[in-house]
Amino acid sequence: MDNCIFCKIAAGIIPSTTVYETEDLRVIADIAPANLGHLLILPKEHAADFTQLSEEKAEKVMKAAHKIVKAMKKGLKPDGINVLQNNGTAAGQTVMHYHMHIIPRYENDNVNVNWTPMEPGMDAVAQAAQATKAALEEE
Ligand code: 5GP
Ligand code: ZN
Repeated sequence: MDNCIFCKIAAGIIPSTTVYETEDLRVIADIAPANLGHLLILPKEHAADFTQLSEEKAEKVMKAAHKIVKAMKKGLKPDGINVLQNNGTAAGQTVMHYHMHIIPRYENDNVNVNWTPMEPGMDAVAQAAQATKAALEEE
């Protein structure tokens, strides 16, 4: 996509600190990391978010994530690692080109990926799950 910064970074048109690259994706250092060592997996083909990413590319991203997480554990020796990605502004997505975050974590660091658990009761939990289950059954 013409005006997409991550398309340009993934294609190598805009330089980045690249730690891994394949035909389909590039893994780069996040410019404003949650912790030092924070990486992003960028597919080269533009997809706005996970709903737009093909199953084939999703498999490739997950395969790369598996490789990168193991290398980060070995290389950086963090206390923990978050693998996460945001879809839509409501979910915290700020760059509208699908990407997966790999974030090294340390005991008592300042990174926040927490939420306050609801206590909606089993009926509401089951009803909400049913919406996705029904959509799956329509496929
Ligand atoms: P999101 O909030 O969309 O899940 O994450 C976007 C991430 O991309 C942020 O962590 C942000 O720091 C990173 N980012 C934004 N622009 C650039 C850039 O030009 N280069 C790099 N390397 N990272 C970027
Ligand atoms: Zn893009």
